[in-house]
Amino acid sequence: MGIASENEEFATRAIHAGYNPLEYGYAAVPPIYASAAFDLENAVRGDALAGGLIDGFEYSRVANPTVDVLEKRLAALEGGIGAVAVGSGMAAVSYALMCTGEGGGRIIAPSNLYGASVDALGDFLPQFGIHTDFVKSINDLSEVESRIGPDTRAIFAETVANPSTELLDIEPLAQLAHSHGIALIVDNTVPTPYLLRPIEFGADIVVHSTTKGITGHGNAIGGAIIDAGKFDWANGRFPQFTTQQQVISDDRNNEWHSFASKYGNAAFIKRIRIKYLRTFGAVASPFNAYLSLIGLESLPQRVSQQVASAQHIAQHLSRAAHVMKVNYSGLGYTPQYELVGKYFPRGVGQILSFLVDGSADNVRRIIDGTKLFSYVPNIGDARSLIVDPAHITHREVPAEARIAAGVSDNLIRLSIGLENVNDLIADLDQAIAHAY
Ligand code: PLP
Repeated sequence: MGIASENEEFATRAIHAGYNPLEYGYAAVPPIYASAAFDLENAVRGDALAGGLIDGFEYSRVANPTVDVLEKRLAALEGGIGAVAVGSGMAAVSYALMCTGEGGGRIIAPSNLYGASVDALGDFLPQFGIHTDFVKSINDLSEVESRIGPDTRAIFAETVANPSTELLDIEPLAQLAHSHGIALIVDNTVPTPYLLRPIEFGADIVVHSTTKGITGHGNAIGGAIIDAGKFDWANGRFPQFTTQQQVISDDRNNEWHSFASKYGNAAFIKRIRIKYLRTFGAVASPFNAYLSLIGLESLPQRVSQQVASAQHIAQHLSRAAHVMKVNYSGLGYTPQYELVGKYFPRGVGQILSFLVDGSADNVRRIIDGTKLFSYVPNIGDARSLIVDPAHITHREVPAEARIAAGVSDNLIRLSIGLENVNDLIADLDQAIAHAY
């Protein structure tokens, strides 16, 4: 399928996938099911539902009809077999990493990740017995391979790093991971499935902060985990998937199951729902799921315009006074231009960052001097946003890792929204001119 027809098909799925109005009282728009629990109808049906013999809704901590539509739509857009929506992007990252590393596993990751993910991997998950081997370059296959040991469970990376926009070379990394029986988990928040679908290149698990481009209007925190359904969790490295578990077994009939034996290639996403969502409970609210569904309807149109504007602004800034460097892999001449051609035919996204000369005072004056850009620690909004990552979004990253990820004190990140691009450029120009 050519890019043009793929685009059209994606746009159709963004509006219709996972929803049949006939099953929801003919409502044209997926309704908000603000109900904590659902009628089990009668004892026989109740028993069958609770035993997992039939599909249906019981309690909104585990599944809810509005959230279910979002999950089905995200799975369809990413090309996965199933998804679980959760209360935030960090819940998605934490659940995916814990579900993989559970019981003493190790993760391989770069340090150019979102700040809270670096903190989780480097500082917090070790408290739960899950440790990380950080690598200098996640695209350096020999460095990555040298860190794979008997306890390694997964490689984790962002497909487009924030704020450097460094790109992940997914395909060879997935091949390397699979040749060792370990999984590739990617955070696809920055590009969104409109620009990149990592499962098509071999990723096993995709996580999102739906707070960003997917919801697209800065009005709802949310996250999602999508399962490609291709990884063999019973390959011997993941005892949590092959151990029999009460919650999915039937002790009255002496029928015992592990997640792998009961759910096969859906073992991961089932464990996320039945163990992680059910136990830790970072559930997506039906209202937030509704907002994400509305946002998804215009994802292709929003992201295309934002990418075009980001490209324009990156080019403009690379010629601007006081700008020392622009980080935007979509510039056409960056060292990663081959990866752009392979993975990002529609562009690399709406995030860019730039390094200015002068002191911290100049940086502050640029940020305070913009009139259209909101000073906000978020990305992927319809509004354009500006932030100083070293002080805000990456504050918890240790200095060494921050420098390695290019997050210096003079770096400014932009998330380009839907305003007129000439107005945005004029705003940046006047803010920079007045800051020196
Ligand atoms: N992953 C990436 C790449 C992010 O940029 C963020 C948030 O900025 C997150 C995960 C966490 O998402 P949330 O804020 O929805 O928890």
